[in-house]
Amino acid sequence: MAKSKKKSKAKARPKSKAKSTKPKAKGPSLLFAIAQTTLPIVGSDQVFPVRRIYCIGRNYAAHAREMGSDPTREPPFFFQKPTDAVQVVYPGPAVDHPYPPLTSNYHYEVELVAVLKSGGKNIPAAKALDCVYGYAVGLDMTRRDLQIGMREQKKPWSLGKGFDHGAPVGPILPAARIGHPSKGAISLEVNGVERQKSDLSNMTWSVAEQIEKLSEAFELKAGDIIMTGTPENVGPVVPGDVIVCKIAGLPDLSIRVVKR
Ligand code: MN
Repeated sequence: MAKSKKKSKAKARPKSKAKSTKPKAKGPSLLFAIAQTTLPIVGSDQVFPVRRIYCIGRNYAAHAREMGSDPTREPPFFFQKPTDAVQVVYPGPAVDHPYPPLTSNYHYEVELVAVLKSGGKNIPAAKALDCVYGYAVGLDMTRRDLQIGMREQKKPWSLGKGFDHGAPVGPILPAARIGHPSKGAISLEVNGVERQKSDLSNMTWSVAEQIEKLSEAFELKAGDIIMTGTPENVGPVVPGDVIVCKIAGLPDLSIRVVKR
């Protein structure tokens, strides 16, 4: 008994000895660095680190109808874009946005983006807005021909939605400053002509309800952002077109589509 006690003491000793003579053990170092995707915050020196991008499909009834589905019977569904698909768009003159490969029907979808400062599982809608740090204007850019082609073949949407630069997003306005907008104009113009126009109150599933539903499927975490759906009248753009997106209370977002 005493012997084994001694043995275990002896066993523990080299550990502390090693600690005193060798440099503290580190984990493996990175083979190379990968850039953290971030979004600017209006009026702040800090930036918002992006963890995941969730997007809801067909969240305005009129858009659901134009995409050929029945808005009254459809539960919400979600897809993701890769985090590094974010293209940060600062307010001001239109920022160049590359026309992506493999498409000849490249569509805009203006969307309110909700960004999360906390998360969880099974978050009830009544508490969901506590997770929201703020809001931004975003574009769920879509290679519509690929999206519909994949849909018809019952294949995933990734090619249509999850490509490089496919998520232009403007700076975040903290909810502490603008609250949680449940109504307000949302619109998009191309070359000065209005193409999309609706109101946030026309969302089928509110931001809070989207967080509730998403958190049933995934553990949400700080840094997750949600593209909350687009109103009707999505349409194509070509190189040279300038898109201006507006949501009441948020900075405008402007991009110029350019040849790669
Ligand atoms: Mn969308």
